[in-house]
Amino acid sequence: MKLKNLQLVNYRNYDKLYIEFNDRINLLLGSNGQGKTNIAESIYLLAFGKSFRTNRDRELIKFNTENLYVGGGYEKNGRNGMVEIAISKAKKGIKVNKIPIVKLAELLGNINVVIFSPEDLRLVKDGPKIRRSFIDREISQIVPGYYGLLTGYNKILANRNKLLKNMNPDLNLLDVYDESLADYGSKIFMFRKKFIERIAEISKDMHARLTDNKEDLNVIYKSQIQINDESSVKDKFINILKDKRKHDLDMRISGYGIHKDDILIQINGLDVRLYGSQGQQRTASISLKLSEIELINREVGEYPLLILDDVFSELDEKRQKLLVDNLKDVQMFITTAEYLHKNVLDMNNTTVFYIDNGKVVKTE
Ligand code: ATP
Ligand code: MG
Repeated sequence: MKLKNLQLVNYRNYDKLYIEFNDRINLLLGSNGQGKTNIAESIYLLAFGKSFRTNRDRELIKFNTENLYVGGGYEKNGRNGMVEIAISKAKKGIKVNKIPIVKLAELLGNINVVIFSPEDLRLVKDGPKIRRSFIDREISQIVPGYYGLLTGYNKILANRNKLLKNMNPDLNLLDVYDESLADYGSKIFMFRKKFIERIAEISKDMHARLTDNKEDLNVIYKSQIQINDESSVKDKFINILKDKRKHDLDMRISGYGIHKDDILIQINGLDVRLYGSQGQQRTASISLKLSEIELINREVGEYPLLILDDVFSELDEKRQKLLVDNLKDVQMFITTAEYLHKNVLDMNNTTVFYIDNGKVVKTE
């Protein structure tokens, strides 16, 4: 898919902006603090209804103003579409093709975006939380309804944890929570399992290509819930909660469930997180991100938009080239404070936007 244009009003340090994008590569170039990431963030907002930098929408509104507007026109599967978001201090309104939506889930999946930031280069290296949000963000784009399951699970989990903090928790209520947690949790488990299996398959090929067949990448779902048979997931889940109830009561927190999931990433049979070199960890992260893009393409029938926020300058020239050359059909938004190697980008299909203090001062 392609994002054709973007309109901002009172968004971060932008007053008014209208830009039309290149279908292939858009280079957002400027010194630090000028507004490059702000543009990337607004594109992400159109896809997910929230920022990747903050959960507080009001931070997005330009200082000393009341409301912001972000609009984006796109083309997907041969059709034109439009997403618009208006945020004031009191409320947020989202329209898809001029029609207001009621639930965030109705927004997800219209504009598909994959964002690659320096943090993602630590996808393999850091703790499990970053890998869980990687999984969740991707499944949300492919499976309508997944986001609702997650919200449901997290709500019950929060209530359950609150109950466990009581001196004398009501055990009947705990049973009710367990039932509900297992219900949501087992569904989430199945979606994650399927997603990780598909990512594993694609990333194995991808990684072999990126390393000239030197490295064999394995991606494995790690969950406290182990199953042999898909029909028994919920029962398994409930049994674990029962078995570990004493532990949870003692610790006063829910220590078991899909909120502890992780993925194990191996190169040639060894856990990359523990035994991989920095370079191997980075390349494995790139393989995973590229696989994610490919998976969305297979599911949605179109490649997602790719935002590379400050990631290019973190990669050596060889990896920069791998990234660009492997994604010939993908529209990219690259933010950077430094000019890139001329031989990495094909300037015939690149538009450079020079950004200075909340303004696009020059385009070429
Ligand atoms: P870097 O190269 O350092 O990543 P950048 O060009 O990506 O820089 P951005 O993060 O896009 O920079 O923009 C940061 C600028 O936006 C800062 O100068 C900040 O003061 C300004 N800014 C952030 N939020 C708001 C807001 N709500 N209203 C006005 N300006 C804001
Ligand atoms: Mg930035």
